Amino acid sequence: MKYDYLIVGAGLYGAVFAQKKTETGKKCLVIDRRGHIAGNIYSRKMEGIDVHMYGPHIFHTDQEKVWEYVTRFTKFNHFTYCPVANYKGELYNLPFNMNTFTKMWPDVKTPEQAREKIRVQIDAAGIKEPKNLEEQAISLVGTDIYEKLIKGYTEKQWGRACTELPAFIIKRLPVRWTYDNNYFNHPYQGIPLDGYTEMVKRMLEGVEVWLGVDYLDQKDELRQQAETVIYTGAMDEYFDYCYGELQYRSLQFETETLDMPNFQGVAGMNYTDCDHPYTRIIEHKHFLFGAGNPDKTVITKEYPAEWSRGEEPYYPINNERNAAVYKKYRELAGREKNLRFGGRLGTYRYMDMDQVILQALEDAER
Ligand code: FAD
Repeated sequence: MKYDYLIVGAGLYGAVFAQKKTETGKKCLVIDRRGHIAGNIYSRKMEGIDVHMYGPHIFHTDQEKVWEYVTRFTKFNHFTYCPVANYKGELYNLPFNMNTFTKMWPDVKTPEQAREKIRVQIDAAGIKEPKNLEEQAISLVGTDIYEKLIKGYTEKQWGRACTELPAFIIKRLPVRWTYDNNYFNHPYQGIPLDGYTEMVKRMLEGVEVWLGVDYLDQKDELRQQAETVIYTGAMDEYFDYCYGELQYRSLQFETETLDMPNFQGVAGMNYTDCDHPYTRIIEHKHFLFGAGNPDKTVITKEYPAEWSRGEEPYYPINNERNAAVYKKYRELAGREKNLRFGGRLGTYRYMDMDQVILQALEDAER
């Protein structure tokens, strides 16, 4: 065998696993069916602006181990995600905090008054046992916030009315009683100064990488290359959907370059009404505080989409049916010799980047 490990997928999981193993003297081959490294965190320059090609990515973690590891490969800026909601042209800060409340209710001036406003609306709705997502959201934050900031966005995201969605999708809705627009609570946050692709490229230094190669097209040949295969693609696809499909929500992105220095003044604007078909517009230059062509800007409109085979799978749909199907695939995977699954697709789980890094570090150490 030529390699110790054949790692299928040059995304974050594959890159971290390969880096750790190479560091300990193992020989790794990384392949990816796409024509680029970095998987879904891939970013590339347009007009000198680093554009996140598979959705906006903000690095955030509370794990010292992950932060120490990742800062070996890149420096981060001090960006924090402070998105703005646009409801029929009315603008509100997110996540829900005192800036949101004082804008929504001009008579509210203090945290106590905001609490009272929400409490009165919750009481007036009189929902004892929420039967659907709409009732659940209203029983947590009242009617105004639900109508203006949750309803339209959620219905576009899931492609169904909130009254038809199960209540458990929303377990809690974090509300801040301070003027704090920082979306994440984690102590370490930022955007890699040279972009995510450069960060992954540095992780893969000294590792052999083949791009445009689909493992499933040449399974038998490729299997002969290494002692162990680490697979970061979808488990159902690997087993040729023998127990049926694991379901996902997908996304479509529409990216355009505009002849203006600044389109919306913020990296992320969520469209929370039903008048706009997209859920958000990302203006990429704001992630790196305006770096790139000062006269141009690049924006991406994000549209939620149904997923079917061949589409990019983005968000796993966590329900009983999918949990049962995934369990069957996992049992099948357990019977395969020298094959391990990892990453977001391999474990059918939504994971932030820091969770993926931690998983790969721990799997490599094991
Ligand atoms: P991937 O990046 O998907 O890599 C898997 C790779 O395997 C892909 O490149 C694929 O082409 C390849 N592959 C699959 N099958 C095969 C095959 N048969 N042969 C060859 N190659 C194959 N996380 C954050 O921390 N902050 C954020 O702000 C954030 N924003 C997000 C926004 C969106 C819209 C989404 C969907 C996710 C976001 N995430 C964010 C999560 C982040 O994208 C993931 O944690 C991370 O990309 C997962 O890395 P991975 O290596 O597991 O998977």
